[in-house]
Amino acid sequence: MTTTKISEKAVKTAVEDLRVLAYNLWWSWHPSARLIFRDLSPYVWETSNHNPVEVLNWVSEHELRVRLQNPAFHGQVRKACDDFKAYMSEKRTWTAKSGGALKKETIAYFSAEFGLHESLRIYSGGLGILAGDHAKSASDLGLPLSGVTLFYRQGYFQQQISGDGWQQERYPSYDPARMPISPVTDSKGKRVVCTVEIGDDAVKVQSWAIRVGRIMLFLLDTDLPENDPRYRELTAHVYGGDNWTRIAQEIILGIGGVRMLRAIGLKPATFHMNEGHSAFLTLELLREQLAAGSTAEKAAEFVRSHCVFTTHTPVPAGHDRFDTGLMNGTFRAFLKSSGLTSDQLMRFGREHPDSEEPFTMTVLALRFCRSANGVSELHGRISRQMWSSLFPGVPVAKVPIGHVTNGIHTAGWTLPTAGLFWTTRLGPHWQDRLRDSKFWHDALSPHNVPDEELWALRMALRRELIEFARRRLSEQNLRYGNNDPAALDHLLSPDALTIGFARRFATYKRAPLFFRDFEWAFRTLNNKETPLQLVFAGKAHPRDDAGKRFIQEIVNISRRGDLFGKVVFIEDYDINVARYLVAGADVWLNTPRRPMEASGTSGMKIAIHGGLHLSTMDGWWREAYDGHNGWKIGEDTTASSDQMQDDIDGASLRAVLEQEIIPLFYDRGKDGIPHRWLKKIRHAMSTLIPVYNTERMVVEYAQKYYGAGKSGK
Ligand SMILES: *Cc1c(COP(=O)(O)O)cnc(C)c1O
Repeated sequence: MTTTKISEKAVKTAVEDLRVLAYNLWWSWHPSARLIFRDLSPYVWETSNHNPVEVLNWVSEHELRVRLQNPAFHGQVRKACDDFKAYMSEKRTWTAKSGGALKKETIAYFSAEFGLHESLRIYSGGLGILAGDHAKSASDLGLPLSGVTLFYRQGYFQQQISGDGWQQERYPSYDPARMPISPVTDSKGKRVVCTVEIGDDAVKVQSWAIRVGRIMLFLLDTDLPENDPRYRELTAHVYGGDNWTRIAQEIILGIGGVRMLRAIGLKPATFHMNEGHSAFLTLELLREQLAAGSTAEKAAEFVRSHCVFTTHTPVPAGHDRFDTGLMNGTFRAFLKSSGLTSDQLMRFGREHPDSEEPFTMTVLALRFCRSANGVSELHGRISRQMWSSLFPGVPVAKVPIGHVTNGIHTAGWTLPTAGLFWTTRLGPHWQDRLRDSKFWHDALSPHNVPDEELWALRMALRRELIEFARRRLSEQNLRYGNNDPAALDHLLSPDALTIGFARRFATYKRAPLFFRDFEWAFRTLNNKETPLQLVFAGKAHPRDDAGKRFIQEIVNISRRGDLFGKVVFIEDYDINVARYLVAGADVWLNTPRRPMEASGTSGMKIAIHGGLHLSTMDGWWREAYDGHNGWKIGEDTTASSDQMQDDIDGASLRAVLEQEIIPLFYDRGKDGIPHRWLKKIRHAMSTLIPVYNTERMVVEYAQKYYGAGKSGK
């Protein structure tokens, strides 16, 4: 046997490359890179919620060097780091080929939250996940985009459920030195700091950078010693505190965001406001123009020509509104420096400028953008109705709000088991064919992927979810001191039809709809011939008691002895929990009260894993459902009251499950395989994967709204 010793130089290079790799979230959608950090320290990997920087903090330089003498491990590291370098230096990106004017321009993408990875808790739900997936696809496409958000030192809360089923919120502090972020400094290594006025106070803002593949995200942070404590705590929590905290956070995000970009030296050609939270950025752009001597009209025109706005909620209460007193108080110094009057300011944010209405962020954004869009076809239509008064004389159908239907970043959501399966079956380049319908249609033929193999994948993914749930439930039970390890072995069955439901517990999403007729639910869950089981997860907003009651209702059902192991609630929903759930569930349940779900994205994450979607005709599903690629609950209509809508949808849900879904899942061939179920999976995958991904979505934004033009594919 020959042995090749790995040279000292090679080891040194690998150590350096690993440190660079840990600080680029490229690893979050490349499993080969994640495996390296897991293998370095499985324990720290687990306890840090899969954080490479924390792993490197706990492995000494000496150990790292010694471990890299192992040729197999060194080879693994070399491969991942070389793949990363190739990705970073790739010249033939979509933007280079089809991006037109975008090749040289910067797009600044503002979002109050970014859901990039479970170890970075700077997100609360779907809006953040969408922003994170947008960023990853922008990187894949080579789009010159920079993100702007806030650095939430205590993030969004960690959820625990008390003995009586009530949600408890914990806010651990995160240490920047233990996160994949770095301070933003100038060429001399000095922290870049800008100043934002809140009321009459000057608040200092610094920022942190996160690398997401080829692009950069800037996180604004007010926790500086020179700031008053009330301002230091401003950016502590995602959507934290009262109305004052909210407006102050949004001033930091919008006005501070523009000032930070200027301080860094960026001159974006497009400012994309992802939801109205960041709309104050338009006021700062306006102030800049006025300060440079522009007329009011010219200044407004300049702002409009640089801004793009995406609205995300059809729920009127979901739009931030601030009263005149709060606006005047927080904008006092800004009004002086911009020369605007309080009245002018208020008029920008009122649907009816002459009224006494509060200031609405969405109205401000709509007044000062060159294009606006909703996030599904139905949501675009609802938004045109909602905001038609801003466009007097324009027929509702012509109100200039379009739509781009949301997507998901497929590679980031693919569980490694599934990723490996598709790479083995379809070749390593399936991820480059995400928008290619023909590819997916052909790839999924039984000739390419036999039924036995597809079923084997489903069984493996379901088992991964169930074992994950058993681990999590056993930790949960330990806390209550009632651990019975043997009982947990019977929690959920690896053979039973498994329904997943996980998302924010906003009440319009109706988590308990399945239990609306409890006797039916009880009977269906306890049917020995055709067993069914449900796995739930989700957080309610800390101030949403109605949402917390929904959690309590489900937790209490899950703790009933006569339903033991058939209904499970997993605590502390996050991206990691989501990944297991969307992979393991046979059916993904989505029950928003139509038309409240602007788009929804969780149901898109199941397609690559062979899950099937069961949903009301809301958001994206209204467009995606073709009669065969999943199931619908209710019709494409809205009832006259919530109560009626819930009755109709509850009955429809029970009927579809009883008459179609359960029989189909248990219709087995002699080989024990549900061939007709698998046929449905193939059809669902080939119709959904090539459309409902963020690569398609970001290309659409680039072509329709960023200015890439329509030429490219
Ligand atoms: C996908 C996802 C969401 C969004 O779910 P919807 O069903 O679209 O509301 C929220 N939170 C997490 C952690 C997710 O992964």
